[in-house]
Amino acid sequence: MVKYSIIIPVYNEESVIRETYTRLKMVMDQTDGSYELLFVNDGSDDDTLKIIKELAYYDGSVKYLDFSRNFGHQIAITAGMDYAAGEAIVIIDADLQDPPELILEMIQKWEDGYDVVYAKRTRRKGETLFKKITAHLFYRLLRAATDIDIPVDTGDFRLIDRKVCNLLVEMRERNRFVRGLVSWVGFKQTAIEYERDERFAGESKYPLKKMMRFSLDGLTSFSYKPLKLASILGFLLSFGSIIGMMFIVYLKLFTELTVTGWSSLLITILFFNGVILIILGLIGEYIGRIYDEVKNRPLYILKDQLRVYERREREKE
Ligand code: UDP
Ligand code: MG
Repeated sequence: MVKYSIIIPVYNEESVIRETYTRLKMVMDQTDGSYELLFVNDGSDDDTLKIIKELAYYDGSVKYLDFSRNFGHQIAITAGMDYAAGEAIVIIDADLQDPPELILEMIQKWEDGYDVVYAKRTRRKGETLFKKITAHLFYRLLRAATDIDIPVDTGDFRLIDRKVCNLLVEMRERNRFVRGLVSWVGFKQTAIEYERDERFAGESKYPLKKMMRFSLDGLTSFSYKPLKLASILGFLLSFGSIIGMMFIVYLKLFTELTVTGWSSLLITILFFNGVILIILGLIGEYIGRIYDEVKNRPLYILKDQLRVYERREREKE
């Protein structure tokens, strides 16, 4: 029986993973129960897996899942949940931006009866101004756009109870935004605050492209509001057009003035085409995601694993 599962998604983290292991080990040895350190190797092409295997050789609490390729951070977390055996499950980044020492505080809250304990960033160190600003805006936009209560400035660093984990595992949606799903299931949730450290070594595995995709996933999985925007914009623009038309007809009939040239014409056409294309793109974002769901492919493919059982297998025993 395992009491605590620590899920650590790793993608090309050879420069940090040993340190992460040591710090986690130090923290978890202070707890009262048995634990597992479940690494999910998300298709790294450096020595990450080799190091994990080394750690696992000496330490029975180290377990791992190895993906056949890079499937993404959110999928890696999900796979970790599929295979985690503990009563309390902690998700933590490998780069030590989330201080492992906080886990003790989370466990304390969990023992006080909370089902989800998430860590709220009060400050971010060592990240670019651009990332800070976009992240700040994104969390607020998401909050405004959705009806569920997704806390601002929290990442996936959190502790969840077994029952919450079981529910999340049942939700097989593809373009996953795990922190949103956790809020969606409800239960007793609470926050602890922390200052986000700098990355211990290496560089961010979230380039702008992945970040944009990730934020669109968050927005589209939890809100239809962008679609409603289309109809609202449509009404506003039609209304404006009618007034414009009346104005032009008035000029033509009752004054000597006429609106001249094709420039005004061109501007109008370009503007409206731009708006239409943006809205089509928005609809496309939703349709693409529907298409992903319909194909019903597995969320990830494992190449290798060590000392783990999927929940369904465990229950059969
Ligand atoms: N990660 C992953 N797959 C990816 C990208 C990232 O498993 O495709 C892991 C990464 O190894 C780290 C965590 O997700 O443990 C967070 O990534 P990172 O620290 O690069 O993101 P940032 O903190 O810059 O947002
Ligand atoms: Mg990081």
